[in-house]
Amino acid sequence: MDYDIAIIGLGPAGSTLARLLSPSFKIIALDKKHQAGDEGFQKPCGGLLANDAQKAFVRQKLNLPLDILTDPQIFSVKTIDLQTKLIRNYQRSYVSFDRHKFDLWLKSLIPNSVNVLHDTLCKEIRRVIDGYQVTYIDENKIEHKITARYVVGADGANSVVRRMRYPNHSIRQYVAIQQWFTDNHKIPFYSCIFDNKTTNCYAWSISKNKHFIFGGAFPKKTANQHFELLKEKLAQQGFIFGEPLKTEKCLVVYPNRFRDFYTGNENIFLIGEAAGFISASSLEGISYALDSAEILSKILNSGVAKPNKHYYQKTMPLRFKLYSKIIKAKILTTPIWRKLIMKSKIQHIKTI
Ligand SMILES: Cc1cc2nc3c(=O)[nH]c(=O)nc-3n(C[C@H](O)[C@H](O)[C@H](O)COP(=O)(O)OP(=O)(O)OC[C@H]3O[C@@H](n4cnc5c(N)ncnc54)[C@H](O)[C@@H]3O)c2cc1C
Repeated sequence: MDYDIAIIGLGPAGSTLARLLSPSFKIIALDKKHQAGDEGFQKPCGGLLANDAQKAFVRQKLNLPLDILTDPQIFSVKTIDLQTKLIRNYQRSYVSFDRHKFDLWLKSLIPNSVNVLHDTLCKEIRRVIDGYQVTYIDENKIEHKITARYVVGADGANSVVRRMRYPNHSIRQYVAIQQWFTDNHKIPFYSCIFDNKTTNCYAWSISKNKHFIFGGAFPKKTANQHFELLKEKLAQQGFIFGEPLKTEKCLVVYPNRFRDFYTGNENIFLIGEAAGFISASSLEGISYALDSAEILSKILNSGVAKPNKHYYQKTMPLRFKLYSKIIKAKILTTPIWRKLIMKSKIQHIKTI
């Protein structure tokens, strides 16, 4: 084997794993983002760090550098239900940050002992004796093949590792669309919007560094159409859009069964969103990416036999927590329940 471990994808999950693994492993990490700057792939995101993600950073003794933070910081979430016309403001303690800078910062913390290849696309994972062959295209568009004993799929919602190795473990995906505008609202604000006519998930708006970002998650077939329809409805509610400065689109995993959370087998491990680890009720995924990476790092560093079995077992609490989010999502996307919650004093409508 050329390497002990090949990590595919360096988002929050992959970068954290690469940072926490013992330097005694020979590790290669492939990521399609560039090493620095605004060129190349950038992950569309609301860029809000939830409480659980903050806790993971506390455990890992990390604080965010100031230049990653954005203005304003978010304490108040305006929740709008277009069916019942109810509006409530909820208190939240997110940290608002620039997602691309955040990803590059996490990558920069990976120790030099890891062979990190930027601007590199993983194409294929094949079983070979004693491990796997990984095929990738490097920054000069040249194809390479390496072998590794363990492969970690940290490649997000559209994971090539999950698709190629576990075609029977497909998971429901929605299309997330975000548009950026110049922010012309008098007061910057953060909102989350429920509208069962256009999205059976939900939509959001975020003021960030004088930009107004509007996004939502939609079933694939009608995504563009429903995104525009929702914008029209919100324009009538006082949202100011204007000409979009940029439009971002990507797949987002939207788990709805317990078995949607899949952690891999036979020395392949899925972490973060590739494993389906994302909250169905809030689309918050960074905390689960950090947590699953930390769990896997401890298992691999300990050198236990049957690491897949241990990873499956140790992520059980995480899976139960995420399953409770599926139930919560079902409640929140049911207008009658939502109305009851929003009319009550319950503070549990939590969305990103
Ligand atoms: C529109 C939107 C808004 C969101 N907002 C928030 C939010 O505000 N807060 C929050 O907590 N969560 C949010 N989420 C969810 C969150 O972004 C993800 O759950 C989280 O990023 C998952 O981390 P990850 O490391 O598992 O995967 P990713 O962050 O997706 O990282 C995977 C990385 O792998 C790389 N990659 C992918 N395929 C390949 C390949 N074939 N070869 C090489 N490299 C590859 C890419 O560079 C990618 O960056 C949002 C999601 C969406 C879609």
